[in-house]
Amino acid sequence: MIEVVSAARCVACDVCVKVCPTDVFERGPDGVPVIARQGDCQTCFMCEAHCPTDALYVAPFSDPAPPGSPHADEAALGPALGAYRRIVGWGSGRTPGSRADKNHLFTRRVRVVPERPED
Ligand code: SF4
Ligand code: SF4
Repeated sequence: MIEVVSAARCVACDVCVKVCPTDVFERGPDGVPVIARQGDCQTCFMCEAHCPTDALYVAPFSDPAPPGSPHADEAALGPALGAYRRIVGWGSGRTPGSRADKNHLFTRRVRVVPERPED
């Protein structure tokens, strides 16, 4: 279940808001997404996989983390943020031959790489 959005890492690209199949997030006033409907989370990890800055953490449980759990503590999680994305090899330099993040939702917004003609 989604537990953490790191405001320090987030670049307000809206990718997680768009890819979540159950509409768990709302865009916050500063652009950082808010976990608005945690109970609708299906623990599918798609938001964590797509986040270009490793700002999300989905705990591997189907219920919310209890109070005080390290699974809801950004400082305690440390490198676990975005770990799912790293493990599946998404992101710059994580797959042989990849030089830049090519998530079309993200790059369209922040222009990390030039747009392809078909974008
Ligand atoms: S884990 Fe899946 S269902 Fe849960 S917030 Fe992320 S994208 Fe949405
Ligand atoms: S995908 Fe990551 S960087 Fe983009 S809005 Fe969501 S948390 Fe922020």
